[in-house]
Amino acid sequence: MSFELIKHHGDHEEVLFLNNSKVGLRAIIAIHNTTLGPALGGTRMWNYKNEDEALVDVLRLSRGMTYKASAAGLNLGGGKAVIIGDPKTQKSEAMFRAFGAYVNSLHGMYITAEDVGTTVKDMEYIFMETPYVTGIPKAFGGSGDPSPYTAHGVLMGIKASVKEKLATDSLEGVRVAVQGLGNVGSNLVDYLVAEKAIITIADIDKVKVKKFEDKYNLKSFSPDEIVTSECDVFAPCALGAAINDESLPKLQCKIVAGGANNQLAETRHGDALKELDILYAPDFVINAGGLMNVFVELEGYSSERAIDKTTQVYDNMMNVFRIAKQENIPTERAAMHLAQERIDSIGDLRKHHQGRMSRPFSTLKEMTDRQK
Ligand code: NAD
Repeated sequence: MSFELIKHHGDHEEVLFLNNSKVGLRAIIAIHNTTLGPALGGTRMWNYKNEDEALVDVLRLSRGMTYKASAAGLNLGGGKAVIIGDPKTQKSEAMFRAFGAYVNSLHGMYITAEDVGTTVKDMEYIFMETPYVTGIPKAFGGSGDPSPYTAHGVLMGIKASVKEKLATDSLEGVRVAVQGLGNVGSNLVDYLVAEKAIITIADIDKVKVKKFEDKYNLKSFSPDEIVTSECDVFAPCALGAAINDESLPKLQCKIVAGGANNQLAETRHGDALKELDILYAPDFVINAGGLMNVFVELEGYSSERAIDKTTQVYDNMMNVFRIAKQENIPTERAAMHLAQERIDSIGDLRKHHQGRMSRPFSTLKEMTDRQK
């Protein structure tokens, strides 16, 4: 059964099942593709119903990381890990250190990070056993919270989208509806205020809404209303699937560009956005700022360089729009083409050259040094 699932969900290079009953660890590490570099992706801890559900999740997420890193122009591959269990009650130092030891045994083929259900503290335990972990506390030379960098990348993606669709370089007076005022959304609002955009907001958490209404005198909508409110840019920054069968026919925006993962319920919803002449900034391209930030951590962290790197999202997005126009295809599909093409062409180069490019794990020396 597992082999069939692996084949069906992306034909991964390696899938490892980890079991240590002494510390209550049951986990899976999936390495999808290391053509461009070591597979990087967070460790999710979740109360999965069964092992198959966990396996499908880790296969799907790790494959997504391959395309995200490639489209971002990073020398990283795609991987992900899941720990099966309740993050509220089943965590322990021993569990994360045991997990860290498994990660270490892969010698840098897989580098982990925080994800849903895991925290900076958990990364600290992993770091006790392996240097192959990012998102560790700043005190340990890490990069800390990636959200401000994700938000900065999203701002760049919104700017590119506005340039493409509204033919202007400025966000002044551009109406942006931000759905979700969490780590990414709140930082994005701060950036948009500085750009003099006309911002509307929504969150299911009324305290967050009130905070931003008061701070910047912003207009708010209910969580349902914001999706279909009249605006230039709808920026989903909450959970996934904001664009679905129900919301699509009611959209009144010109652009969909926000930080959330999996904004399209299905790929066909991206095709439908094209039909409606709504420009879609593919989520895995626009929200890559957080990944860029941890990539900078691999090189030796500097916040200035991380912010600088996230400005690249603008050009990446413009590239996607160019391909979409040239081939007359939806932007989501154009982004997949761009990512796949880079993997194929760099993979071909590796076959023929023995230069720096042929050492995908060259950043790892610095990582190992970091822990000495
Ligand atoms: P978060 O949990 O801090 O924020 C999510 C916010 O959305 C919360 O305030 C929540 O109350 C709100 N929300 C939930 N459902 C809503 C709804 N129906 N309508 C309005 N608001 C709603 O999460 P985050 O870290 O800000 O991440 C937001 C999204 O961006 C997620 O999809 C995440 O996967 C994605 N993302 C985050 C990062 C990062 O660096 N944090 C990086 C890449 C992608």
